[in-house]
Amino acid sequence: MNQSEKCHRIQGCKRLYIDAFRAFKPLLEVEGNTFILTHYHADHWAGLPRGKSYIGPCKIHCTPVTGNLLREIHKLDNAFIVEHAYGSTWNDCDGNNITFYDANHCPGAAIVFVATREGQKHLHTGDMRYHDEKFRSYPLLSEAIQNRELDILYLDTTYAKPKHCFAPQDEAIEMIASQVGELLNSNQDIVSEKKQSFFQPKTKAKVKEIASSDVAQAPVRTLVLLSCYSIGKEKVLWNSALQSKQLVFVNKTKHRMLQCIKAHQDVEASSGIIDRCTLDPKKSDIHVITMGTAGSLHPFFQPNFEECALYAHRLNKGYNKVVAFLPTGWANSSKYNRENGVAKKIVDLKEIVKKGKVNGNNHMMDVEVRCVAYSEHSSYNELRACVEYTRPKQIIPTVFSGEKDYAAIEKRFQDLVDSQRAKQAFISKISGIGVKRKAAAIMKKQKISRPQYSTKAVSKVQMPQIMPYKKGRSNLQNKEDKVPHQKLNAPTMSAAKVHEESLVEKCGMSKQNVRQKTIADDAKVAMMVSMGFNPSRSSESLIAKSNNLEEAIEWLLSR
Ligand SMILES: [Zn+2]
Repeated sequence: MNQSEKCHRIQGCKRLYIDAFRAFKPLLEVEGNTFILTHYHADHWAGLPRGKSYIGPCKIHCTPVTGNLLREIHKLDNAFIVEHAYGSTWNDCDGNNITFYDANHCPGAAIVFVATREGQKHLHTGDMRYHDEKFRSYPLLSEAIQNRELDILYLDTTYAKPKHCFAPQDEAIEMIASQVGELLNSNQDIVSEKKQSFFQPKTKAKVKEIASSDVAQAPVRTLVLLSCYSIGKEKVLWNSALQSKQLVFVNKTKHRMLQCIKAHQDVEASSGIIDRCTLDPKKSDIHVITMGTAGSLHPFFQPNFEECALYAHRLNKGYNKVVAFLPTGWANSSKYNRENGVAKKIVDLKEIVKKGKVNGNNHMMDVEVRCVAYSEHSSYNELRACVEYTRPKQIIPTVFSGEKDYAAIEKRFQDLVDSQRAKQAFISKISGIGVKRKAAAIMKKQKISRPQYSTKAVSKVQMPQIMPYKKGRSNLQNKEDKVPHQKLNAPTMSAAKVHEESLVEKCGMSKQNVRQKTIADDAKVAMMVSMGFNPSRSSESLIAKSNNLEEAIEWLLSR
């Protein structure tokens, strides 16, 4: 999640902060502020002091599962945790109504629906995997959407490019689980074959045949490794355990976390998985490993065969094959990853084992790393479906690499936001106040003054060429013209003044008409800037629309 303040502060709410322990850390010490933790992933709780080092006074609002994790894992004092069940509405200190709904991300994760005291309605998605049927079942959210009242959608844009396409979650889970089942069922066959042959009388020839095949072609014994974060992908574990009829080995940390998520009653996988896990590594052929152990994804998929081989070897259970699954949304993100998603290598343990012995007849490990397109964030198509359903007036991306990326993401969803409502809201905001009066106040506040023309500077500057706007081409021709409007300096305006006078002289136009067509009205630019439009784009649109404010806004919104 980006640390930009706009991603963590809900518009219209003075003291409501979401996953903002880094962005607004000092405000944790101010009584009356409300902090929400959407879910217990490190990039969201980062900045929240652990254990006794957190002394408040602000309380952390979250779901019961996240509350458990804050108490048991983060060791936060219970006095600072306030839990709210999915679907129940509560108020912050300023009377804004807040409701959590299941984000379909990890256990306990919430999307946050806010109805402000002033009547605005916003949805902050935290981290989410959009699920059409589920999201349509959330009463207050659905009501706001049906009434076309949703103002801002703070959107988890982890995968906001068209290339980020992956199968629906259920399909990906089923695919991984069935592969795990197939791989491990052959282990069962080996065991039952050996048991069967043990009780059957053997001829000398038969005994010889079995002995030689043991050396030349040992039966395949497979270990499955599933890569997971500390919390998340429980549905993958649950279904893999069911398909293979095996327990799943997890380490102590993961086990403690699974204990905490038992309260996530709505999802069988989350509440029941703890009963299908074991802390004894010998009791299972399915082991959960941390993300990164089997390989990395950035900048491209690079499997770590040796680490997988060593892991299987250390268990000392006679494994000669290991298959590691790497479920991630980045699996399909590049041509290279798509074409090399399954990587195989025979690793000679004698070359990599530094301590301990390697069995002389069993030192070759068949290693396979499968990069599977699975994610608990929304795919690009799901994000489009989400914006199409919610039809907000505006989206605020919460995952982006910089301002350029932010603008590109906004543009990708522009056709789905309710631009008509956005325009109406803007017009109603400025009506009744008096454009000039409000603009004057804004200009005073922002110290924007009408530039003074200077005839002395005319010879030093190039005449600005004002061209009719064409798509894909800027009508601002020189560098000086590209600076934001309030930074226009005296020499540039002098040139504009000269240009204006030449138009009056050559074309016989009135000064007022020329001014309207070639220079953006300062007051209107200031108004547009105050509403969040980019200064230079505001000037550009006003010039393109001959200073007609409404048309300029419409023109910008339609870009
Ligand atoms: Zn997350």
